[in-house]
Amino acid sequence: MGAKKVKDTRRRMSGQYDNLIKSINRKRNAAEDIRLEKTKDESDPATISHDGDRLYTWHESDFARLRFIEQAMKAIGRGQYGKCVRCGEDINDKRLDAVPWAKMCIGCQEETEAEHISPAVMASLEPEVPEW
Ligand SMILES: [Zn+2]
Repeated sequence: MGAKKVKDTRRRMSGQYDNLIKSINRKRNAAEDIRLEKTKDESDPATISHDGDRLYTWHESDFARLRFIEQAMKAIGRGQYGKCVRCGEDINDKRLDAVPWAKMCIGCQEETEAEHISPAVMASLEPEVPEW
């Protein structure tokens, strides 16, 4: 990957980073509003914690992406950006266009995902528990 392309990618990621921070702050404010609303209007603690959980999940994915972007920025600083951390090969430019913070080439990514099923996937595989 050429120096100009890396520079462009860096600028793009730093914009996405700023947007994520803004979006996290917005959601934090929204969560606060919901909490206050619920506390005011309803006395059912189950409803409050349910909404809190949902918002917390959004936060989790935002924070995960923030970490990916931070790692990619560090990789740019070390001059290792665009290299697969697993096999050391160059990551396909098209893949980096789609996922600028990708750490692995598509082949390694797929192999890793096949080896480790993520907790989120596991959760979705668990049977639904009826609420009554
Ligand atoms: Zn690889």
